[in-house]
Amino acid sequence: MNIHTPPSPPRPLEDAFGRRISYLRLSVTDRCDLRCTYCMKARPEFLPKSEVLSLEELTELAQAFIRRGVTKIRITGGEPLVRRDVVTLIENLGQEIGQSGLEELCLTSNATQMPLYAERIAAAGVKRVNISLDTLNPRRFAELTRTGQLSRTLDGIAAAKAAGLAIKINTVAMKGDNEHEIEDLISWAHAEGFDITLIEVMPVGEVETHRSNQFLPLSVVREQLETRWTLKDLPDSTGGPSRYARIAETGGRIGFITPLTQNFCAGCNRVRLTCTGKLHLCLGREGALDLRAALREGGPGAVDALLDQAMNIKPEAHDFSVAPGSQPSVARSMAETGG
Ligand code: SAM
Ligand code: SF4
Repeated sequence: MNIHTPPSPPRPLEDAFGRRISYLRLSVTDRCDLRCTYCMKARPEFLPKSEVLSLEELTELAQAFIRRGVTKIRITGGEPLVRRDVVTLIENLGQEIGQSGLEELCLTSNATQMPLYAERIAAAGVKRVNISLDTLNPRRFAELTRTGQLSRTLDGIAAAKAAGLAIKINTVAMKGDNEHEIEDLISWAHAEGFDITLIEVMPVGEVETHRSNQFLPLSVVREQLETRWTLKDLPDSTGGPSRYARIAETGGRIGFITPLTQNFCAGCNRVRLTCTGKLHLCLGREGALDLRAALREGGPGAVDALLDQAMNIKPEAHDFSVAPGSQPSVARSMAETGG
């Protein structure tokens, strides 16, 4: 008698601390048209293009994660929309939604290229985009981004809104730079119908100033907001590090990402893949596995084996510190890792 044993379903990704990994942040480029002062140096050295994964390789690796139980993929960078073929990748992965285990495909962008791509992105199945905006003051925007123009980002946001994409604004809260503008940003975002998330500056990568000069604890920001508004904590969680509240007076949602003042690692459900195929298991730790070599030299089986190895070594927590005199926790910038 010929007994066929059905192939066993692939094992979902679970790390040594029992955390299920269901979220991949996929960086498609480390390049960017802006030079935000907290993210990169004025003259960054970008990776040679020859090292960057092809569209086919990015798709294949993303599919390997989906087979292992990843349900959400965020396309990021650098600025993902400065990579010319990224919309094709978004369209390829969009076809997986509802067909494989992929439930959500989303994007983080600075929005400068959104007028060109928003409609195609929405048509590909993307429902939500995170857009970074740290100030509504044109002069400060030019200073903070070094090369940017506020009007271009606002046009991009308008294009994303017109294409029907739900928008969350990401704002890095910075001492001196934008701390007195945070209430204006919240009022503006909520009037536009957008969620907004405030982020503590993280000590990743070298920038021109010490992080202690930029760091503004969100506990202080929240106290300040509560002198003006009523914040009611919400149970909502996107499986991420953001803690949400609703502001009674504006009706809008505000998120707080507080890696420094309130560690969120216990619920970590994510890993990050760079555009050269390095798999980073923690934003705040050095060390990565080379999925590009595994894919090129060993194919899907080798990729799967490396994912198993990754689950055994994913660190329990980051060790960020912005104390005066401290070194960056990791040398690579957020743009390289895929923030
Ligand atoms: N270029 C896109 C953008 O700006 O949205 C995507 C990549 S960017 C690296 C992703 C997010 O990381 C942005 O919201 C940015 O503000 C944030 N970010 C960059 N450097 C950071 C740092 N040192 N600390 C905290 N957030 C940072
Ligand atoms: Fe570019 Fe985003 Fe970094 Fe700003 S935060 S420099 S937009 S990658």
